[in-house]
Parts: sequence; C-alpha cells; structure tokens
Amino acid sequence: MDPTSHQGRVPALAALRELLDHLGELPERARELLDVIGDDLHRVDSELRELDARYRALVEQIPAIVYVDLADESMATTYVSPQIEALLGFTQQEYIDDPELWTRQLHPDDRKQALDTYTRGREAGEPFTFEYRLMSTDGRQVWFRDSAVVIHDENGDPAFIEGVMLDITDRKNAEEQAAFLAYHDKLTGLPNKAMFEELLSLAIARARRHDMAVAVISTDLDDFKLVNDSLGHEKGDELIRQLADRLREATRETDLVARQSGDEFLLLLADIDRSGPPGSPDAAVLVAEGVAARVREALIAPFDLGDTEVYLSASMGIALYPNHAHEPAELLRNAGAAMFRSKRNSSGGYSTYAHENVDALGRLSLSTLLRKAVEQQHWELHYQPIVDLADGKTIGVEALIRLNDPNGGLVPPGEFIPLAEEMGLIEMIGDWVIEEVARQDAAWREEGLELELSFNLSPRQLWQPDVATRILTRLATRDVAAPRTIVEVTESTAMTDPDRTLRTLWDLHAKGLRLAIDDFGTGYSSLSRLAHMPVDVLKIDRSFIHEVHADEQAGNMVKAIIQLAEGLGMTPLAEGIETAQEWQFLVENGCRLGQGYYFCKPVPAADVLARHRRAGLQVVGD
Ligand code: C2E
Ligand code: MG
Ligand code: MG
Repeated sequence: MDPTSHQGRVPALAALRELLDHLGELPERARELLDVIGDDLHRVDSELRELDARYRALVEQIPAIVYVDLADESMATTYVSPQIEALLGFTQQEYIDDPELWTRQLHPDDRKQALDTYTRGREAGEPFTFEYRLMSTDGRQVWFRDSAVVIHDENGDPAFIEGVMLDITDRKNAEEQAAFLAYHDKLTGLPNKAMFEELLSLAIARARRHDMAVAVISTDLDDFKLVNDSLGHEKGDELIRQLADRLREATRETDLVARQSGDEFLLLLADIDRSGPPGSPDAAVLVAEGVAARVREALIAPFDLGDTEVYLSASMGIALYPNHAHEPAELLRNAGAAMFRSKRNSSGGYSTYAHENVDALGRLSLSTLLRKAVEQQHWELHYQPIVDLADGKTIGVEALIRLNDPNGGLVPPGEFIPLAEEMGLIEMIGDWVIEEVARQDAAWREEGLELELSFNLSPRQLWQPDVATRILTRLATRDVAAPRTIVEVTESTAMTDPDRTLRTLWDLHAKGLRLAIDDFGTGYSSLSRLAHMPVDVLKIDRSFIHEVHADEQAGNMVKAIIQLAEGLGMTPLAEGIETAQEWQFLVENGCRLGQGYYFCKPVPAADVLARHRRAGLQVVGD
C-alpha cells in the first residue's frame, strides 16, 4: 500500500448514500446533513489530493531518496522516489521489483553493519540512522546517510519503515581527503612528517622485537631556494614533484619516502637484516648507503622544467637504529646532523652519522654565507699572471675567485667551490666569473692591455648541456674573442665521465675556445682518451713542481709530462713555480709556460694593470 495515498474516502460516501437510498425516504434534515458532509468530504479529499501531489513533488525533488519498506523480514520496498535512478542507475520499478537489490548493492565492507542496524531498528521499532555505500550500476560508490522511522499499525506493530537516503558522497570524499591530507603532503602526495614519525616508531618497535635495523635518510636539496627564486614557485613546485617521483623510483617498494618540508625529504628503510658475514662491515649500514647512492644517481640527469633544464644535487644523512640512536626523535635528529655534514663534505652526497657530526653549526654558517654571497655577488676575482718561461713575460692571466667574507677577509676557492658544487650554486657562480672576466678584459683593453684569459670550470658547469653557448654569449657581450680565452678543466673532471666530457670539449673547441687540462698528474688519466681530447694546454700540477730541480723522481715525472704534452700537440705549463731553481729546471727541460708565486701571486685586477704600467710586461722576480 501506498501510505501517501488518501483516495477511497469519497467512494465510501457514495456507498453510504446508496445505502440510505435503499432505506427509503430520509428526513430532509438528514439529507441536508449528508450533503454538507459530502461537500466537506469532497473538499477535504481534494485538499488531501493536492497535499499528496505536493508531498510527492517535494519528496521527489529533494536531493535524496525517500523509500517505504514493509517492516517485515521481506524488506520489500513499496515506494522509492525516482531520484534512485539518477543516484544509483536503477529505475524505481527495478528497485521495487527486487527486494534483494539494496542488500546486493551494499558495499561489501559496509554490508554487515548496515544490515544489522536496519534489522535492529525494525525490531526495536525505534528511529535509526546509518551510513553506508551502495554501488551504482556504473560501478561508482555512493555514500548515503540513511535516516529511517518505523511506522506502526493500529495494533502498535511495526508496519512500514519510512526512510530518507541522503547522498553524502561529496562530504565523505572531503573527509577522506582531509584525513589523507593530515598524513600526506598536498604537493607530492607523499606521506608527511607526521605519518613518517608514526611509521618510524612502529618500525623501531618491530626492529626491537626481531633484532633488525631501521635506517633514516634525511635528504635536503642543495640550493632549492635559488631555483625557486630564479624560476618562480610554479617551477619550484614542479621540480619538487619530479624529485618526489625520482625518490620513489630510487627506493624499494617497502621503503617509505616522505616530504618533511620545502625541499627536505625523509626516507625510512625498515626491517633491515643486520646479519652479515662475521667481521664484515655492518650490513645494515651498507644497505642504507646503497639506497643513498641510488638516490644520488637518480639526481644526475637534469630536471626538465619545460623551457629550462635544472641540475640538482641533494645532501643526505644516514642514521640507523640501533647503531646511532634508539628513539625515533633521536634517530631523526642524527640523520639531520649527518645530512649537514654531507652538505659541507665535497665528496659524494651522503654521509652516515658519526658522533663528530655535532659540529653542524659551523657547516651551516658556511653554506649560509655561500647562499648570501650568491644572492649579493660577494665575489672578487684575482688574477695570476701566466708567463712565457723563456723570457718571463706575462702572456695571460688565470682568473681565480675569492669569496668576500662580510666578517672580513677572503675565503679561498678550495674552501667553498666544493660546497658550492654540492649546493648546486656553482653554475651561477661560474656565470658570474665569465661575465666578470669579460668585463675586466674590456676594461684592460681600454688601457691597452691585451692578455690571454684563463678561467676554471667545475664539473657541473662543464656538464651543462649548453655550456659552450653560455660561455660564448657572455664573452660576446664584451667583444672578447673566443681564441683569447682558455677554459680550464681539471684532469679528474675530464676523466670522470670521459665520453660526455669529450663531446663537450669538442663542442667548446669547435666554437673557437681553447682548452687546458688543469692539475695534470693528480687524476687518473687514460692516455688514449687524453690523446683524443682537443686540449691546447697541459697544466702540470704544482705538487710535481715543488723542488723539481732537487727531487729526481719529481724531475723525471715533469720531464715525462712535458714530452707527453709536446707529443700530443699540447703546450706544457708548470703550476706553482716558487723559486728561480724550479723555473730554471723547467726552462732547461722545455716547459714553455708557467705560473707561480715566484712570478706573481694572484692579485686584484688593478694590480695587474699597475704591474703592466710599471714594467711593461716584465713581471719576473717580483
Ligand atoms: P687552480 O686552477 O689549479 O689554480 C691554481 C691555484 O694554485 C690557485 O689557488 C693559486 O693561488 C695557487 N697557486 C698559484 N701559484 C702558486 C704557488 O706558487 N704556490 C702555491 N702553493 N700555490 C700557488 P686558489 O686561488 O686557492 O684556487 C684553488 C683552486 O680553486 C683552483 O686551482 C681552481 O681549481 C679552483 N678555482 C679557483 N677559481 C675558480 C673558479 O672561478 N671556478 C672554479 N670552478 N674553480 C675555481
Ligand atoms: Mg686553474
Ligand atoms: Mg691547477
């Protein structure tokens, strides 16, 4: 039965009238009364019909499904509002015809509880409210908040269950999203620090029970701020997203990658086996370092940001339970301290916690100083003359960078170039050096001084895809001819990724720049590779030059290198000449070029000009 219907009362009146007719003549008064009642009933009936229509219209328009079920075991539905079709894809009739449909469409996870609540409500005869998911015909999960009341018959027994099923899918999704966000980072979708800490606690508890190890790798992008500032936040965000992907790829399925904040990420390696062969290094440490090495490799390729490519490195710090800490907070702290250590350490992007890591503050100040220096260009170039050893005349200068410490003094490049390289700042510094060399050269030329110009390139600079163009455009703005410049690359750089370096060197050469291999003798050259490099100058490292006239072995080495250079068509240059005897030995053995304190220390540009004015190009024995 449809309880929303109020039909049937007027036909009953007609029947009464018929009955009265059969009973014969009625007193006039009764007839009048009957007419009045009839009219009243007609009016009430049409009012009820109107109400019914309005009620239906209302029921069928609210964004919810209204239903009426029989309050018996059949759970049969006698009425369901048409919204069912829009929300779940079933027609009203389909729903009414199939008493099992509701149960069947319940989400398996919600089925038991929903059925229990419904049955309990029916049996208790009390109103009840419950939430559950129904599967729509197209496979969507639709969340409902179902509020039902039990309608009793005249004997007080449950007759119907009338309910309203409100679609709360949006609200549920928002709740889920909020719950997700409480534990995840919005930008990358990675777990956040809160989740990381919870999982870390669990991992440590598990490791304690099973005698396993847990590693935390704290990862901090080197110089992300600079990218953000120079390329804008959108690109910065994109970079972070790409980085998150690379971190996920570089780690195992079971490892957890979380974003701590900004450009800081945390890696959790749980359930690491501690047992290794007796006497072997700690197996767990090796596992963690292996992951760090993979992360480092994953960052080698540039990040593609549409119109720009960005090279990035990250500094990583490793700390393990139980080796370095027993509590989650301590483990995190120690991984952070180790990370700062690797920030300053030039070799490699990760270090494992050791107790001496605690001097993190000192490290911090140098990296802060460096970032500031990049922002405010606190640099200065000094120039060291390069002389023709035959006559001691200056033929060129090597530009050597110094960092102006705002607290006074100059920081030599050996102390900050490796860190700048680690921090990803070197490209900016390198660009500044070339611009400054070009500017200085233009100024010297104005004064009538024309020198060969050498400057140093670090590995990262060399491996920029467009390095030749980068250099040439900067030189061109000051009309510096490419062949007057010499690009210095250390031997170890040149041999690190020889194929790639070779291509780059040929590109530089093809564009007219000259090349020097710096610090030769300290790296591990492959001679056959060296022979294929378009190198103009071979700079013999100063460790061989020291006391070269007195140290037979050094002397033999230097002679051999000079011959090697000549044989390969390169000009030999001796670095670090400090005495007249060293100079003399080099001249006698055919070394053509040299530089060193004996001739001149690196000096500010003004001094180069002053020397030129004072002594023509004669700068010997100053
Ligand atoms: P380098 O290119 O081999 O430069 C020569 C270094 O030897 C300079 O040290 C110079 O001051 C020093 N030197 C020159 N003559 C003598 C001498 O007679 N005795 C002694 N003991 N030392 C001498 P500096 O300026 O401290 O530079 C160190 C290194 O830093 C450079 O070695 C170069 O590899 C790097 N560097 C300097 N400027 C730059 C730069 O602008 N960019 C990059 N990427 N690296 C740079
Ligand atoms: Mg050099
Ligand atoms: Mg050198």
